[in-house]
Parts: sequence; structure tokens; C-alpha cells
Amino acid sequence: MKRTGIFFTYFQGERLRDFPQALAGILDKENVSYYDAVYDSHDGLYYLAPASEELLLKVHSRDMVQEVKLSGDYESALYSAGGTVQAADEIWQGRIDNAFVFTSYGDHHAGRNFYGGMCYFNSAALAITSLRERGIRRFAIVDTDCHHGDGTRDIFRCDDDVLHVCFCYQDYQDNHHNVDVRIPYRTSDEEYLVLVKQEFIPRAVVFKPEYIFWEFGYDATQGEYGDKGLTRDCHPKLAQLIKGVADKVCHGRLITILCGGSDRSLATYIIPRIIDCLAEVGRYQ
Ligand SMILES: [Zn+2]
Ligand SMILES: [Zn+2]
Repeated sequence: MKRTGIFFTYFQGERLRDFPQALAGILDKENVSYYDAVYDSHDGLYYLAPASEELLLKVHSRDMVQEVKLSGDYESALYSAGGTVQAADEIWQGRIDNAFVFTSYGDHHAGRNFYGGMCYFNSAALAITSLRERGIRRFAIVDTDCHHGDGTRDIFRCDDDVLHVCFCYQDYQDNHHNVDVRIPYRTSDEEYLVLVKQEFIPRAVVFKPEYIFWEFGYDATQGEYGDKGLTRDCHPKLAQLIKGVADKVCHGRLITILCGGSDRSLATYIIPRIIDCLAEVGRYQ
């Protein structure tokens, strides 16, 4: 059974109002650890730490960090990014196998010197930078948010040791480990799952990453602002696929980062099912 870490940083917005209560029946499992940025309710081991400025400056420009400082959201952005960095470290230390990171802000629109779309810092890039200091080199990033991961692409475009497969609006391209797969409107769950099976899984198997990061957004779900026709049940099935490949190629080291999606009831339906899959609880099967 996999040990799953849940990293909870929640400072604003409506969509996560039902959490962590919606994880009842999962949080009490022995293989599930809960890390919280707000309540230091355990023995200190499970406190979620903010990202350090020193680490930020290894990924982002000083000017950009300075701009975020002036935005008023700097502190919560540090905690939001810190969850992913800490998840990567806890996996490296061997305390957990995989993780789900609740973010206050997204991730994939933050590049070296720009940010936008509610993404201040690129937490996957921060975690990768931190892991590389420990000697880990190769990573895969799969992005199923409906939008293009322009920030992630900006940072890793020329990096031979990062595979970036992004399911988005962009025309199809496969260029030096940078892959975009266009998702048309009115895509069925089955069609989407087939695309992930065809375009991500074989590449990940060949690439042999040491960790997989999943930029998970549910904004392509019916009724969302990036509606591509997916049902809410598509995302737990994606979790099974992506967890399956992580279990196969990198000892299950998978970090799921919450990206886009706005609807509260969708979050409350989808996220517990994804975490249930990661932790192999079986409550929803
Ligand atoms: Zn893309
Ligand atoms: Zn999005």
C-alpha cells in the first residue's frame, strides 16, 4: 500500500470550502499523512513550511519575486508553492510515496520571469530544483489542466532531463521532450483517456523519470470555464492511469498539484476520489 501525503494550504476562494472535511474516511488511514500550513496540530512533523526566497531565486528572476512581493499575495504564494517542495522532500526522505498538494495558487503559468492566471511561483520547478541539489536528475511533468503550461515550458524547454507532456489548446507538437496534445471541444472521457494512454504513458516508460509531477486541473470539465466536455468521473480515471505509470517507472513517486477549476461541488466530488486512488483506500471503488 502506498503512503500518501496531503499538503493543505488554503487561503482564499470558494472551491475548497469543504476541505479537509470532505476527506473523512481517508485522513484517518494509517498510510495517509496530513500536512497543514495553518494548524500546527500534530507534533510539528506535519507542519507545512513555506518555500524559501533562496529557492525562489534559483527558478524565478529577482524582479519577478519582487513584483509578487508587492501583489499582497506573497506569503500565501510561498505556502502554496511550499507544499510541492515539501512533498518532494518527504518522498525523497522515504516518509511518503506520493502526494496531493492543495494549492492556493496554480503553478504552470509561472515562468522564469513572468506569472499570470493565478499562478505566482512554479512549484514543480522549485521542487525539481531542490531535488537536483540532492542528486536526482530526471523528471516527467504531465499537465491535464485545460490550458497550456506556458510557465513550465518556459523553464524546462531546453532541459534534456525533463519530459513535459501537456494536454491543452496548442496544436500538436513533439519537440525535444516538449509535447503538446490538442484537446478539441466536446472530447469524451474515453477519447481523453486514450490520448493520455497514447501520448504520455509510453513516453514516460521510455524516459524513465525518477519522479512524476501531475499538474491536475479540472477546468476542462463540463460547465467549467475551460469546458472541453469531460465528465467529473474522468479525473479519478486519469489518476489511476498516472499513478499506474508512476508505480511502474519510478517507485510510485508521484506529486499531484491542484491547478485550475473553480466549482466547489466538482472539487468536493473529484479530489477525494483522486486521493482515494493515490492512497489505495478503495472507498469509492
Ligand atoms: Zn500545452
Ligand atoms: Zn487552466
